[in-house]
Amino acid sequence: MEEEYFKSKNFDYLVEELEKVAPFKIKFKDESWEMHLLNVLVFWFNPGFLTQYTTVIGKTIYFPDKNYIRYNETSAMKTLVHEMVHILDARNQGVGFFALGYLFPQILTLGVFAFPFLGWWSLLFLIFALPIPAPFRAESEARAYALDVLLAHPYDHEDILNRIANLFTSWDYYRMSNSPKWVVERIRYWMDATESGAASAKAMTTVLLIYEMVAED
Ligand SMILES: [Zn+2]
Repeated sequence: MEEEYFKSKNFDYLVEELEKVAPFKIKFKDESWEMHLLNVLVFWFNPGFLTQYTTVIGKTIYFPDKNYIRYNETSAMKTLVHEMVHILDARNQGVGFFALGYLFPQILTLGVFAFPFLGWWSLLFLIFALPIPAPFRAESEARAYALDVLLAHPYDHEDILNRIANLFTSWDYYRMSNSPKWVVERIRYWMDATESGAASAKAMTTVLLIYEMVAED
């Protein structure tokens, strides 16, 4: 009985329709050992990683837990739409290439494992562990967050843009940007591109149309 009551009909419908565009899996961070492992690394700069953030890796979307969807269905649907942009971008760019771009330049820290070849010089790669701006990560997020803004009430756009700009420059995304002005410009750019149906914004247009169809029902 209770299960039935809590069934998230619109959310499930949205999943069904989005999967026709690109298949993906939904998992929950609280039930996932791999997310708890990743949290050991991420927790230091983003303590809300397990409980407040949804994360995409490959074709899997990790929501914090099942209640996140049950009790906030509309916001979970908007989150899903955001993550779907990442999934489509990754599919178009190649999953490996997308991940490298997303993790650049911090991914270069792995150069320390060149130790046998470079000796002590390889320690210089540790510099990339610093919160150096991450242009590809910021651009990917600007594309996805364009939908967060478009799905909000026009009166709230200014507020939301400022909130997102703060997020981009915060530790939550490892300070991927240092210019709130740039963030707002990029998001506005992708909002316009999405609304005008530009080819470069096809991922967002596709996802937005599906959301609107489902939300109307
Ligand atoms: Zn994102």
